Amino acid sequence: MMGKRALITGIRGQDGAYLSKLLLEKGYEVYGADRRSGGSSFWRLKELGIEKDIKILYMDLLELTNIMRVIEKMMPDEVYNLAAQSFVQVSFEQPCLTSDVNAMGVLRMLETLRTIKPDAKFYQASTSEMFGKVQAMPQNEKTPFYPRSPYGVAKLFGHCITVNYRESYNMFACSGLLFNHESPLRGFEFVTRKLTDGIARIKYGLQEKIVVGNLASKRDWGYAPEYVEAMWLMLQQPEPDDYIIATGEAHSIREFVEYAFRYAGFDIIWEGKDIEEKGIDKKTGKVLLEISPEFFRPTEVDILVGDYSKAKGKFDWQPKTKFEDLVRIMVEADIERVANKRY
Ligand code: NAP
Repeated sequence: MMGKRALITGIRGQDGAYLSKLLLEKGYEVYGADRRSGGSSFWRLKELGIEKDIKILYMDLLELTNIMRVIEKMMPDEVYNLAAQSFVQVSFEQPCLTSDVNAMGVLRMLETLRTIKPDAKFYQASTSEMFGKVQAMPQNEKTPFYPRSPYGVAKLFGHCITVNYRESYNMFACSGLLFNHESPLRGFEFVTRKLTDGIARIKYGLQEKIVVGNLASKRDWGYAPEYVEAMWLMLQQPEPDDYIIATGEAHSIREFVEYAFRYAGFDIIWEGKDIEEKGIDKKTGKVLLEISPEFFRPTEVDILVGDYSKAKGKFDWQPKTKFEDLVRIMVEADIERVANKRY
């Protein structure tokens, strides 16, 4: 008997790769929607050894008829909408494009499914950035939203339209409100990976220093492979619903920096204040980390920390990897890559 058919948009992304692996292990036929941006191939799928197991279909969330043809062709049982312009900083530079993909793209997916495959189960990749200027601590499914970036605003539309299609058309549509989740497959533009990759390069003399933005921002950081399992679990419940997925712990970027350097064998001391602050290697006196206003957002999100008790109660999901271990996993992976010239 054939397994279920899953369509994953954003197949080239971090979560697309881990979710593909999980669904393949569960016997799914996995179709990956790729917008054909060219560039750097399917390196994440390759790293996980599953590149040949995914059926790639070309689909851009900006193009309605393209989405319709893909859905008509494969008639999915489950759709995981992970595609997005996912970088908050870029959303300030490209607010219209971000909204077209992250907000209208979700509507295009839902409208297509309503028309062609209304019984398909739908997962929408929502985000803690919708809480932005937080109205309660920690944030749960009932916390009011206050997004602070075009990314957060567009994702909030995606979330609301998912709830609306569930309530209006009785579709099995779920929104996962995922807090930051990282891994060795994280994109280089995100601060965690920029740090672990940069530190590995510094260790091997390929880079002098790393330049970052606000060290005081606190985030709730989890391990991506555990988070994609929560996506799948949401679609296996008897009723569709929305769930926070988080660790319940907040850590600052400064803490991430300190742990990451330590795992790579550096002892960092801080000198200076505010924008002039520098991270200095205690042993050599060299500046290894600097701050630049270039990486500050016009409106910052100071702290995010999620309450995952609904997911724990409904389907027994809870995070396993602690913050320090997550940092170590990422640092070790990047050191191994740089040491073996796999970059
Ligand atoms: P990611 O690595 O940036 O992947 C996003 C994917 O979306 C990329 O493969 C990208 O394609 C694709 N994409 C962008 N624009 C598209 C378009 N117009 N049509 C089709 N595909 C398009 O993101 P991720 O970390 O895996 O995150 C997955 C989803 O979860 C995203 O929606 C993100 O916003 C959301 N989320 C992530 C986190 C997190 O901490 N990782 C937290 C909460 C929510 P290319 O490869 O061609 O660029």
